Amino acid sequence: MPILVMKFGGTSVADLDRIRNAAEKVRAEVERGYDVIVIVSAMSGKTNELVGWVNETSPMFDAREYDAVVSSGENITAGLMSLTLQEMDVPARSWQGWQVPLLTTSAHSAARIESIPRHNIDQKFGEGMKVAVVAGFQGLSPEGRITTLGRGGSDTTAVAFAAAFDAERCDIYTDVNGVYTTDPRITSKARKLDRIAFEEMLELASLGAKVLQTRSVELAMRYKVRLRVLSSFEESTPNSGTLVCDEEEIMESKVVSGVAYSREEAKITLVSVEDRPGIAAAIFGPLADAGVNVDMIVQNISEKDYDDHPEAVTDMTFSCPNDQVARAEKAILDAKAADQIGFSELVVDTDVCKISVVGIGMRSHAGVAARMFAALKAENINIKVISTSEIKISVLIDRKYMELAVQALHDAFELETNS
Ligand code: ADP
Ligand code: ASP
Ligand code: MG
Repeated sequence: MPILVMKFGGTSVADLDRIRNAAEKVRAEVERGYDVIVIVSAMSGKTNELVGWVNETSPMFDAREYDAVVSSGENITAGLMSLTLQEMDVPARSWQGWQVPLLTTSAHSAARIESIPRHNIDQKFGEGMKVAVVAGFQGLSPEGRITTLGRGGSDTTAVAFAAAFDAERCDIYTDVNGVYTTDPRITSKARKLDRIAFEEMLELASLGAKVLQTRSVELAMRYKVRLRVLSSFEESTPNSGTLVCDEEEIMESKVVSGVAYSREEAKITLVSVEDRPGIAAAIFGPLADAGVNVDMIVQNISEKDYDDHPEAVTDMTFSCPNDQVARAEKAILDAKAADQIGFSELVVDTDVCKISVVGIGMRSHAGVAARMFAALKAENINIKVISTSEIKISVLIDRKYMELAVQALHDAFELETNS
């Protein structure tokens, strides 16, 4: 039998009615002749609640117990989905990560999938089971402990199953009917894309578009999984939603295809840091050791050259997620106390966000940055940090301008229309 993977996110399984609605979609695919692997998220809000309980109980928590707690939301949904299918006379059973087993690294709360042996589920399909309902987001470490894959990780569970079981397609059912030119919650002008290239989706996801977890797009790209994003609240047809696919399969060719944002960013500047060989390593080494995910880095040009002026100083600025600021500050102050780095002042700005424009067309078009900066200028939005790569340009701006900037860029690149 051909295999299909169907993933239902939190809002799609938020209550028993919605689980029933999702189960109807699964039954329809079974009736079309598929063996189905259903990946479920926790009911919406559940994982946040569990994370809150962990933080309240133990602010410096043991990550293994964090995973034991936050993985549990998915177990409830898997059991309920299986029961719902059984009530519809569809032969189904639930699988927790350890029962598959979905094997991961031991990096608790951000584990990576190592392998998914097929034999247990294949055996049950052979015995007449039509649907394997798998709890998303969770796995088993080499030490035999429960792990989780990072927030939004059920998308990655789904794509990994699609790759391991050679599924015909991996359908991600969510609360929007596809991938849009930007988050449809920010502007009603956002337009649904029929197709988007893996590379663009990867950039959008890693720059903040949480419609797919970044790692899921990476896996889909590597294993050539046919990945579709669609709504669990609409009737699905073969052309519903957005297909994430190879660049060659895309007709539409806009220079910029999407705008992403990341709301909770912070900017940290070391003022008058010594400008000498090894200073960047002395700053970013301790930050890495402290587990800070440094994103953008800007080092000002010194007025004086180090070779003639060993006393020269400069400013070094970097950005990181807002919730890592305390850790970052501590790492830098500890390095200063240990005389590894010297600077006059540490300036922390926790009121910034990152806005990015993404498009594979940028590879062959000049002027995208200029157009982006002009659009921000027209709204009187000041740019604090800029970074670019082959297919994206990102800027750090004041958080209060986030919606305005997304809307202005969406207009400036005419994303509302597809011509
Ligand atoms: P699920 O619970 O189904 O995994 P998520 O909340 O993780 O759903 O992801 C879906 C949400 O992603 C949407 O509700 C939307 O607000 C947001 N989103 C951000 N950027 C985009 C985009 N470019 N296209 C579609 N949705 C986006
Ligand atoms: N329930 C997990 C989360 O909220 C995983 C997921 O929904 O993908 O992050
Ligand atoms: Mg999600």
